[in-house]
Amino acid sequence: HQSDTHIFIIMGASGDLAKKKIYPTLWWLFRDGLLPEDTYIVGYARSRLSVADIRRQSEPFFKATPEEKPRLEEFFARNSYVAGQYDDAASYARLNSHMNALHQGSQANRLFYLALPPTVYEAVTKNIRETCMSRAGWNRVIVEKPFGRDLQSSDQLSNHISSLFREDQIYRIDHYLGKEMVQNLMVLRFANRIFGPIWNRDNIACVILTFKEPFGTEGRGGYFDEFGIIRDVMQNHLLQMLCLVAMEKPASTDSDDVRDEKVKVLKCISEVQASNVVLGQYVGNPNGEGEATRGYLDDPTVPCGSTTATFAAVVLYVENERWDGRAGPPGRPEGTALRQPAHAPSRPGPALSPRGALHPALRQSPERAQGRGAPAVPRRGRGHLPAAVQAQRAGDPRAARRGRVHQDDDQEARHVLQPRGVRAGPDLRQQIQGARRGGRRGRRGALSATGDTPVTTPTPHPRLQNVKLPDAYERLILDVFCGSQMHFVRSDELREAWRIFTPLLHKIEREKLQPIPYVYGRCGGWGRGLGVGWGRRRAQGLPLICPPNCPCPSRGPPEADELMKRVGFQYEGTYKWVNPHKL
Ligand code: NAP
Repeated sequence: HQSDTHIFIIMGASGDLAKKKIYPTLWWLFRDGLLPEDTYIVGYARSRLSVADIRRQSEPFFKATPEEKPRLEEFFARNSYVAGQYDDAASYARLNSHMNALHQGSQANRLFYLALPPTVYEAVTKNIRETCMSRAGWNRVIVEKPFGRDLQSSDQLSNHISSLFREDQIYRIDHYLGKEMVQNLMVLRFANRIFGPIWNRDNIACVILTFKEPFGTEGRGGYFDEFGIIRDVMQNHLLQMLCLVAMEKPASTDSDDVRDEKVKVLKCISEVQASNVVLGQYVGNPNGEGEATRGYLDDPTVPCGSTTATFAAVVLYVENERWDGRAGPPGRPEGTALRQPAHAPSRPGPALSPRGALHPALRQSPERAQGRGAPAVPRRGRGHLPAAVQAQRAGDPRAARRGRVHQDDDQEARHVLQPRGVRAGPDLRQQIQGARRGGRRGRRGALSATGDTPVTTPTPHPRLQNVKLPDAYERLILDVFCGSQMHFVRSDELREAWRIFTPLLHKIEREKLQPIPYVYGRCGGWGRGLGVGWGRRRAQGLPLICPPNCPCPSRGPPEADELMKRVGFQYEGTYKWVNPHKL
């Protein structure tokens, strides 16, 4: 059904997400003329609020300039608010009448955003389905994580939602999928002659996906403690990244073709083995300042003696022909290929991650990365592709102090690629960053246009300067309006993701696995990066505490380095390339 009128309903409009993200995002889209012209925004929650209250709460996050004031008034004129209960049909009937009265014609599409605690998802979706569906236009429901706590609870929620809505009406948000650099990954991989031919076990020595947060719980530990780092970022954001890094080329850019490939690659990953996991929990840094002196357990909102992990390093194996090789790619004698850890949460390296959040690093043979003309050189290592995923809170407070870490920005994946032998200096990074700059339409091929050889440009291309990059939520909400589900998580994808992590999560809970302490913002080794490695220090029986001037950000517990080493990853202390012929 086509309709020009759209109603965007925010369920939980009084809450934190609504105020900080959803209202500001709708404003930016409205301001830039990206929303369909006849769009209304309706807030719904139990609190008795007015549009003026919503405005007071959310406007500070709009970053509107004085010149934008008239437009801002127009925006709020399109807003309304209905107070009601989440489990009471009469409230929804009022909401429905309110929506019907908003517009002239009979047709209006409705987008419901569930910005609510998951405890009320079932009641809210049921009531929307029964009372608030647009009869003539289409209906779409946007759901926020957490999508359950494990395979069983997630299945229960999925079954409930799918009994009410079709898959093409369900939009599960993983905001990582809205990030510029994450969306660039597909372009980088599939629109490029540099990377396409070498993206496999023969050329990529290691894949590491790293997520770091340079701050502690900051008094919100109670919330975090219920989830822990694996549920918070690994089972969702990092696994999505892994899919984008490891999947095969989709048959088309159709949403379901892309999601089919993600599901396929997830199906090739076995459940995480506890022996391939290192868990950590940060403790205060006695030499730090302020927040850095407080450990996770010092947060009064964290339950006493909590064993919740704030760091996790996990090795996963993608067992398919591209990454494992056992299916016998041409020229490789059977039996020589080992299983390849394709994904292991492990620690962030200093050069990798001065900016919080997500840093996938791909290390690969330099010669191949540099193009066709280069001689093929055998890879270092044992014919083994280790890859790592790691996630961590309280990682690098120094970076935060420099004001360079943004919890929420598109630039944080700047170090997205670290080809072995090509130092990811500003030149290559810029090329990579440039791949999709300029918005979702057009200029997609900026990188591929450079041919096989990374071209060095000391400054960004003029076309790319002052380009405003939309934020992740802007892209994703616009996608919902457009009906594009490519960057949303499908039920079967979610199920596979939980399958991989649920046995581990249950084991952690059942056996109360003790996380290893690591110091807030300090690497915990003796100057990894100062040239004296942790291993040597340990061999000599020297203390393993890094000095106050240690330049390394926290790498979590040293055991995570050991884990990575065991699966073949060679940590060099810095991410400078080391010539394999001179080792
Ligand atoms: P929130 O502020 O705690 O809750 C949103 C609204 O839900 C509240 O204003 C409240 O509205 C209602 N509510 C709160 N607790 C409730 C309860 N126990 N029973 C019934 N209603 C309750 O949550 P949020 O931070 O906005 O997050 C909303 C959803 O997005 C959650 O699922 C969260 O996990 C997810 N999420 C949030 C963020 C974020 O940055 N905040 C990021 C990613 C995902 P009334 O009392 O007025 O009804």
